[in-house]
Amino acid sequence: MRGRYAPSPTGRLHLGNARTALLAWLDARSRGGAFILRVEDLDHARVPAGAEQAVLDDLAWLGLDWDEGPDRGGPFAPYRQSERGGRYDAAIDRLLAAGRAFPCACSRADVARAAQAPHEADEDGPRYPGTCRGLAADEVRARAAAQGRAPAIRFAGGGERIDFVDDIHGAVPADAAGLDDFVLRRADGTAAYQLAVVVDDAAMAVTRVVRGDDLLRSTPRQIALTRALGLPAPAFAHVPLVLTASGERLAKRTRPEAVADLRARGLPPAAVIGALAASAGLRGAGLPVSARELVPGFSLAGIVRIPAIVSAL
Ligand SMILES: [Zn+2]
Repeated sequence: MRGRYAPSPTGRLHLGNARTALLAWLDARSRGGAFILRVEDLDHARVPAGAEQAVLDDLAWLGLDWDEGPDRGGPFAPYRQSERGGRYDAAIDRLLAAGRAFPCACSRADVARAAQAPHEADEDGPRYPGTCRGLAADEVRARAAAQGRAPAIRFAGGGERIDFVDDIHGAVPADAAGLDDFVLRRADGTAAYQLAVVVDDAAMAVTRVVRGDDLLRSTPRQIALTRALGLPAPAFAHVPLVLTASGERLAKRTRPEAVADLRARGLPPAAVIGALAASAGLRGAGLPVSARELVPGFSLAGIVRIPAIVSAL
């Protein structure tokens, strides 16, 4: 069994990130599996200098260890997405050749204008209306070139309906509208998260994906990509996120407590792990515990299923 944690080092590791990392680590270690650390720095312009090392230091301080990662290498290196672009391009070429992807010359404004009906919009923006799907690739490339850019590449979702079983959420029914033609590669040449995560999990032989349930919605897209590329699909377990005391999702705006701040205040890692464990219902509140001590008998099935609030530290 192989599990992983895949942080985006665009900010500091906060308690919500740490809790998801802990649960993914416990899931792998309690199954005697390998644990992989992969840095999701596709958006590397947004990664501050030193941010990756700070995340690795925080995880190590919490007592979470990994068998493969950017700092220690491994059989499936590199473990930074910013160094794996050739693999994403190769996957996109296969999808283009198989007719499962197509170039798109539309700008964001074009998509918004063509989508029209407001109900076709979700939090990813308006649903793509299929403008370029039936056009000849040469024509699309010429249209994009006339606007001074390269075309984006989109997946030919075709309204495919994908249901799946999640370890925590159980049977997740397909979205009624089916898959949209989501972006695989942006016009600036950067691979989209949806594609990179699928290519990497398969290439790194990841068998279980434990991650925050904000990604539950994007799982059908990833399963569709896995199938279109003929890759094995991992099992999924989407764990509840941590909320602030007022019920908001942790984000930069809500100024979540950073693990580094807790360290700087002199708290021992066992106090932080203890608070995270209590928030997941693994231990009573206020009991310090090491990550290693939580491994025996751990089961994701036993964690609290509602969004968590980590009590003040
Ligand atoms: Zn288009």
